[in-house]
Amino acid sequence: MTHHTALSVAQEQLKLAVEKLDLDKGIHAILRKPKRSLMVSVTIKMDDGNIGVFDGIRVQHWDVKGPFKGGIRYHPDVTIDDVTALAMWMTWKCAIADLPYGGAKGGICCNPKEMSKNELERLTRRYVSLIFNYLGPHRDIPAPDVYTNEQTMAWIMDTYSQLKGYSVPESVTGKPVEIGGSEGRMCATSVGLAYCIREAAKIVKINLKNTTVAVQGYGNVGYNAASVMHNLGCKVVAVSDSSGGIYCPKGITPDAVYAHKKKTGSVINMKNCTNMTNEELLQTKCDVLIPAALQNQITKDVADKVKAKIVAEGANGPTTPEADRILDEKGTCLIPDILANSGGVTVSYFEWVQNLTREHWTLKEVNGKLEKKITKSFYDVQKLAKEEESDMRTAALMLGVGRIASAIATLGLWP
Ligand code: NAD
Repeated sequence: MTHHTALSVAQEQLKLAVEKLDLDKGIHAILRKPKRSLMVSVTIKMDDGNIGVFDGIRVQHWDVKGPFKGGIRYHPDVTIDDVTALAMWMTWKCAIADLPYGGAKGGICCNPKEMSKNELERLTRRYVSLIFNYLGPHRDIPAPDVYTNEQTMAWIMDTYSQLKGYSVPESVTGKPVEIGGSEGRMCATSVGLAYCIREAAKIVKINLKNTTVAVQGYGNVGYNAASVMHNLGCKVVAVSDSSGGIYCPKGITPDAVYAHKKKTGSVINMKNCTNMTNEELLQTKCDVLIPAALQNQITKDVADKVKAKIVAEGANGPTTPEADRILDEKGTCLIPDILANSGGVTVSYFEWVQNLTREHWTLKEVNGKLEKKITKSFYDVQKLAKEEESDMRTAALMLGVGRIASAIATLGLWP
């Protein structure tokens, strides 16, 4: 059995795009590696008086189109290889969405579930102080990812601003609205995902009303995706989190499950639902499957049993290359991560623009611009997939990698 890491998947995808685009091997060599990788030791005082030492990472892939941009993940399994893969995907994602950014990603290897709010604050501030010289609104702009949230972004903004000596809201996105966050940022990834699903539904000819949906992961992306799809008239029949999943053929009410998770710590053991494993969730009978947790979930063993007509990747890297091929052969419409979840970075870009111009847009304006932008990207990818007779993943990679390769060629190398 092939063992995949996020980085091996990202490298294989890049190779595929390079071959399809017939790119120069020098350009391939450039894009295989990040421009800069920072590894720092984040040392903090724990609540019990002991010293905690955590590995902190920030990887900046390529920035030929503008400053680096990417989320920060707090997770016990975070590795430099995973963060590098996530940074590469950010580069292609920003290029597909036509945003003036390069890809980056950060992470701290820690278990936030076992840490207090005060410890997480000290961890965040110390981490920012260690990579401070490489951050900034024109250098690298962080955002939330797994187990980081609006509060984390507020601490990042405050630490950056304190070290600068003046308030710099444009140094980070995904922060609370009261300190310069954008309307709609919290739900943006899921709203963007829903716009993509809406267009894909037209292609596979299914009516979204009464369409059944299963969602893996019930955090920012998963919960909001379940809510948005529910509001569109779909029936959300299964959801899960790190403790397991639940199934309810009559459909769940996303807010009720959210309240249950808040109270008990997980979606499992919800009234009128049957518990199931995460693997079973991916194989649930449904029309739309939304993986919105971690990478490497739909493997070749699972892909065979996926019943959904549309797989919309809310998570980054949830599907392995072999699983991609199996889904494609089965005729599943897979909307790849670098397109499907680009609503998050798109509204992060809107937030940065609003901060730089000291403006504040309404939710209607934000969602209107998001809809226009992501729908255009969807059809850019769709058109290329048709021309190339390829799946949407290959087309999306060709579009993203191609745009970056062409920018590198135009800029040239210095010295
Ligand atoms: P989050 O921390 O808000 O939620 C993560 C969820 O995944 C939690 O419900 C957690 O219980 C669940 N989970 C963790 N491990 C799991 C496992 N092994 N099996 C099933 N569920 C598991 O994180 P998020 O921001 O919603 O991010 C989820 C995914 O979406 C990640 O892949 C992230 O990179 C991607 N993403 C996030 C954004 C964003 O704006 N937040 C944007 C684009 C992509």
